[in-house]
Amino acid sequence: MSVVTRFAPSPTGRLHVGNLRTAIHNWLFARRHGGRFLLRIDDTDQARSSEDCVHAIRADLAWLGIVADGEERQSARFGRYEAALARLHAEGRVYPAYETAQELDLKRKVQLGRGLPPVYDRAALALSDDDRARLEGEGRRPHWRFRLDHGRPIEWTDLVRGPQHFDPALLSDPVIRREDGSWLYMLPSVVDDIDMAVTHVVRGEDHVANTAVQVQMFEALGAAAPHFAHEALLVGAEGKLSKRLGSLGVDEIREQGIEPAALMAKLARIGTSLPVEPVASPEPLIEGFDFATFGRAPARFDLEELAQLNARVVHLLPFAAVAERLPGGMSEADWEAIRPNLKSVAEAADWWAILHGHVENAAEANDRALLEAAAEEAAAIDWSESPWPALVARLKARTGRAGKALFLPLRRALTGRDSGPEMAALLPLIGPDETVARLRSAAAQA
Ligand code: GLU
Repeated sequence: MSVVTRFAPSPTGRLHVGNLRTAIHNWLFARRHGGRFLLRIDDTDQARSSEDCVHAIRADLAWLGIVADGEERQSARFGRYEAALARLHAEGRVYPAYETAQELDLKRKVQLGRGLPPVYDRAALALSDDDRARLEGEGRRPHWRFRLDHGRPIEWTDLVRGPQHFDPALLSDPVIRREDGSWLYMLPSVVDDIDMAVTHVVRGEDHVANTAVQVQMFEALGAAAPHFAHEALLVGAEGKLSKRLGSLGVDEIREQGIEPAALMAKLARIGTSLPVEPVASPEPLIEGFDFATFGRAPARFDLEELAQLNARVVHLLPFAAVAERLPGGMSEADWEAIRPNLKSVAEAADWWAILHGHVENAAEANDRALLEAAAEEAAAIDWSESPWPALVARLKARTGRAGKALFLPLRRALTGRDSGPEMAALLPLIGPDETVARLRSAAAQA
């Protein structure tokens, strides 16, 4: 079997981390099995869908390194849905219904008041041709429902959730087409999955009840149902579905200096029994991908943990992967020297400015002796290992200064700033000659 997966966002807004996780899992699974990954734009709701969102979806996936092997659009496929509806109609599996939203609401309230499940009572199935003609004569237009087969239980073995079992009599016959002729999600998705030979439907567990209905739709259309993997939902660190996560998208994540590789490493593995590890490329994620490792409990997503993972990913990134985002003039050796100290690639520019830029090393008069001593000691210490602790130890012994009174004048003289990266990491990169020169020049200005 050649694996085909699809990611099917509705282009009514930007992708959030939950959507991105679903996309990543579909992509990784297809890659793992040498299959195809499709992007399906679910734009049946033409009023709410926008072309800008379609572009943004593609751009967000591309940022992650995901390019679809094919793209389909539901708005280009209405003819296929018509044909499926006609077939189901001929076979008695769909029927027109005329209740208004208020009438349906009332029925539900009555059922709930009697302690019954609010399942549609199929009153429309009892309408005669005359009834329908009369209703249409009154100006009512039908919506269409799919008639579930109550004859046997709906069952499938979910790749994440294991054996699933639904009693169709406890489900309402779903509305598949509205009065105005527009399509609801349910039937088009099945028609597409059949036409596109989708073998694995991977989506959030909020779709499990839809799947129960769709399993019968596949059968009614003479197709074998695909495999299903319903993943547990994503929750925030506090263990709840937060509004914040529902709006957290690629733009904001990228602005925080998060690398696509870090986001992918995180989203690929949270909620699974595999460790979340820093990886600079998706290969290890593809290799280890297995729905059997997916847990049933909600997956916790924490931005703080993502930032920590990101730092570890940055430390792995080769020069070629970041070169175009580095300050001009920075070499591969420079990158490798700075890399272990970075939390984000953007920080490289700060370090670069400190190491090679012009340092405004103003100093105060009472620091002159300290800085002169520092210049002498810097020229004398062994630079082959840990020059900063060596310099500090000598200056403590020589000047009696400690703490801020010692560190701040040195930092200002060497970096022109009051704060910044660890001096212990900076000093070897500034190097002995430049260190001595900066200390002398600061002392001269004090
Ligand atoms: N457009 C649907 C959604 O975003 C697709 C669900 C599916 O994967 O079938 O929820």
